[in-house]
Amino acid sequence: MRALVYEGAWRMPLRDVAAPEAGPGEVVVQVEAAGICGSDVHGFMGTTGRRTPPLVMGHEFSGTLAAVGPGVAGRAVGDRVVVQPLLTCGECANCRAGLPNICLNRRGIGMNVDGAYAETVRVPASLLYPLPEELTWEQGAMVEPLAVALHAVNKTPLALGDTVAIIGAGPIGLLAVLAARLKGAGTVVVSDLSPHRLELARQLGADLAINAREQDPVAAVRDLTGGAGAHATIEAVGVGPAVKQSLALVRTGGQVTWIGNSAPEVPVPMQEVVTRELTIRGVYGFNEEFGRAIELLRAGRVDVRPLIERLAPLEEGPALVHDLAEGSLDAVKVILKPRGVA
Ligand SMILES: [Zn+2]
Ligand SMILES: [Zn+2]
Repeated sequence: MRALVYEGAWRMPLRDVAAPEAGPGEVVVQVEAAGICGSDVHGFMGTTGRRTPPLVMGHEFSGTLAAVGPGVAGRAVGDRVVVQPLLTCGECANCRAGLPNICLNRRGIGMNVDGAYAETVRVPASLLYPLPEELTWEQGAMVEPLAVALHAVNKTPLALGDTVAIIGAGPIGLLAVLAARLKGAGTVVVSDLSPHRLELARQLGADLAINAREQDPVAAVRDLTGGAGAHATIEAVGVGPAVKQSLALVRTGGQVTWIGNSAPEVPVPMQEVVTRELTIRGVYGFNEEFGRAIELLRAGRVDVRPLIERLAPLEEGPALVHDLAEGSLDAVKVILKPRGVA
């Protein structure tokens, strides 16, 4: 079968590889839609250490069951599915505490084992969720990033009407706009450097979309809040200046949620955190939010379709990932369609 194989920094060609087979407890999914994640793009650049070659990336995907392994009950070839990509052990202290997203033995499909930038992918049957008939393959591929944003907002204490500042209008930042709205945020502010992404943020319900190249987000948020700052900030970029901004934008005593995950280390104004008594939390992945993301999409409570800006066959994957890495392509969510773009 054909797959995009990450072979080293800036190298991810389309290759012919052996098709996976379903072992006991496993299924093979024929991939219909696989979203390109920022973490894959950064992994492709070889700078984050989050992807080790050789690897087929791709962890945001939907498809149909092409094979069902021995011992798998209640699943049949042809089932429409979306796959929860976190591989967890079920036995460590955190799994047993109901927090599999921070499993001590956590791995991920498309992160540590071969993923969905391929015609087919092998996954444990326990990770399958039915994709409702009402949802398209592309919406199915958006479940994973939506679950990430839901988890980040779930973990952020918010009262009805609170002002929330979101740093970064990539897929996760934009989905966090939708999630913050669902949770009852009052004013939602988004900052980014891309006019195109800021326009999308407005379309998705941001009250104020700030181009940080043209306007100081800290001054703008202070103006908006009578000098106080936002009740909560959500950092969805993961590099030094954005992390610093997440602290500067929040009011004294406020809540700071870090979801961006790019630079391994960034400098932090520690005294400001201490003396203004800021609460900083890291968030990773999702738990029950995965199933909720499917239901919210099915029920029409969130519309992720405006984020999907490009559909492409697998062959175009290498050039698209390259252009996203280089910054010459400013599409929010690119979705690969291994069976072709219908
Ligand atoms: Zn992702
Ligand atoms: Zn575990």
